[in-house]
Amino acid sequence: QCAAVCTTGAITVNDQIGTAWRAIHDPQKRVVVQIAPAVRVAIGEEFGYAPGENILDRVVSALKIMGVDEVYDTNFAADMTTISEAEEFLQRLKAGGPFPMFTSCCPAWVKYLELNDPKYLENISTCKSPMQMFASVLKAKYAEKDASDGRTTYHIAIMPCTAKKMEAARDEFFHDGTPDVDLVLTTRELVDMIRETGIHLDELELESPDLPFGLGSGAAVIYGVTGGVAESVVRHCLPDKSKNTLRQVRVSGIRGDEPIREVTYDVDGTEIKIAVVNGLIHAKELIADIEAGKRFYHLVEVMSCQGGCVGGAGQPYGLTAAKKERGNGLYAADASALFKRAEKNPVVTAMLSDFGPQWCHDHLHVHYGHRDQ
Ligand code: SF4
Repeated sequence: QCAAVCTTGAITVNDQIGTAWRAIHDPQKRVVVQIAPAVRVAIGEEFGYAPGENILDRVVSALKIMGVDEVYDTNFAADMTTISEAEEFLQRLKAGGPFPMFTSCCPAWVKYLELNDPKYLENISTCKSPMQMFASVLKAKYAEKDASDGRTTYHIAIMPCTAKKMEAARDEFFHDGTPDVDLVLTTRELVDMIRETGIHLDELELESPDLPFGLGSGAAVIYGVTGGVAESVVRHCLPDKSKNTLRQVRVSGIRGDEPIREVTYDVDGTEIKIAVVNGLIHAKELIADIEAGKRFYHLVEVMSCQGGCVGGAGQPYGLTAAKKERGNGLYAADASALFKRAEKNPVVTAMLSDFGPQWCHDHLHVHYGHRDQ
């Protein structure tokens, strides 16, 4: 199938789409794309698929036809995030805090705390988001490749979210004047690019993401739905790894639509209290209750958008029912995943052990500071 596109980006209204086209058609650049979990179950809605239908393999195929060199899955890095965040959480349990540990995957939530409640910055997990972990690993792994073939790796992240553009532009994620993620495109921007090419998704041969960064667990794919990050961390922390335990976690109340959900688990004799906050507005309410002594948690997941990233501002416009179906699509992907827990991802565990603890500490973690704007 032939892609008829304007290689200069001149016919695209959106500047960032033009930037993407110019990178793709620059022979000096190796364009490497990562695709976030929530994108795969929403993008199809713009092409006649039902909300929640997972069309990742069609999107990979389309990107290849458009000229992208390598297409990977953010799920790979979500497994790294789960392992790192669960280890940090277990260390805090040993050290006695600080609690609650807040998840750090949602940049809008991080920015909210920086601007409104900076005293809680030490409560935010020091783990980078999956998008930024992916970029750290990619740039480290491809430095040698760039030096040997003279091309420059250009990293595009396809995200459900406009806040991810702000995250990628933060000083913390620049090295030697270059961003780790060169460009963030939203799901809708990718829709526009696919339309510009005239590609018919339903006519494509399916293609899986490339290896080695194309492999992710079921725990990773549910990062895109409210409660998914907390559930993944719990899967890693619970000593009993049986299927029955996974099932119990699934029905424990960690999943759902309620604005604030509370769950309790036993980890090695300690009762762990977790809250999942669905929508930024409810985080304020939760913090007020924590400060009033009405609530206590060890771990709190906050996702700013309704339903989590499936309801992100960069996704196709959808009503609550569509967002629910997208979440169900991610749960279905988890149910059929080859492995359900992050530490079962053989590529991730091998890479973490190759890199060593010091490298992981330096490249997979970040400390956020107070900001005025
Ligand atoms: Fe972005 Fe919304 Fe997901 Fe936060 S919850 S990372 S703002 S899509």
